[in-house]
Amino acid sequence: MIVLKTSRELAAMRVAGKISANALKLAGQAVEPGVSTWEIDRVVRRYIESEGATPSFLGYGGFPASACISVNNVVIHGIPSKDVILKQGDIVSIDIGAFYEGFTGDNAYTFACGDVSPEAQRLMDTTRESLYEGIKAAKAGNRVGDIGHAVQTYVEARGYSVVRDFVGHGVGAKLHEDPSVPNFGTPGRGVRLLPGMTIAIEPMVNAGVHTVKTLSDGWTTVTTDGKLAAHYEHSIAVTADGPVILTLPD
Ligand code: MG
Repeated sequence: MIVLKTSRELAAMRVAGKISANALKLAGQAVEPGVSTWEIDRVVRRYIESEGATPSFLGYGGFPASACISVNNVVIHGIPSKDVILKQGDIVSIDIGAFYEGFTGDNAYTFACGDVSPEAQRLMDTTRESLYEGIKAAKAGNRVGDIGHAVQTYVEARGYSVVRDFVGHGVGAKLHEDPSVPNFGTPGRGVRLLPGMTIAIEPMVNAGVHTVKTLSDGWTTVTTDGKLAAHYEHSIAVTADGPVILTLPD
């Protein structure tokens, strides 16, 4: 069931989105060689709780941390760990949500740890740009397939592939709501976008093949070919005046 939000609810989602975005920004500032992903998770949790909010991922489906931190060939759902120490040249995808007064934001960004290779930079740039292509397509009257098509064509034209096994989603009072928002699709197909819909658009882009596998911890999802992956995400609202990004930092 798709839940349309009132303008008052959208205002509340902007606050939750802002906290989520501020947390992501802080996490990015903590990315540097020698830092463990556990330390970054601690920064995230402290900030979110200091705002009177709750980390949306902590305990979600049993996830043991406040942020998913996914390094290099890890696409999504990396578990923060004292044993994962960032190195110069790593690319670090961080995914964070914060619940505040009944609503959550959800956002992700792939950060460079120091100087990264031109190949890694191009993958990150393409993935970030594809997110904005997807957002542009999230207009009332369009369909979910228009978003996926926009992301997919942008990514594939640059020689990369979009992950099929994980997709974007509705977001609001729950972290994952209907509809699913794939990063692939056919224009004019799928659920029609209506004002008041709030969705998380989140391209997961692989440098090589699109296939992924989940490791035995039940979370960590990696590329099957071991090549790099990047992940960017915003929560957005579909409005009569066009898409509005909810996860913007101060
Ligand atoms: Mg999401």
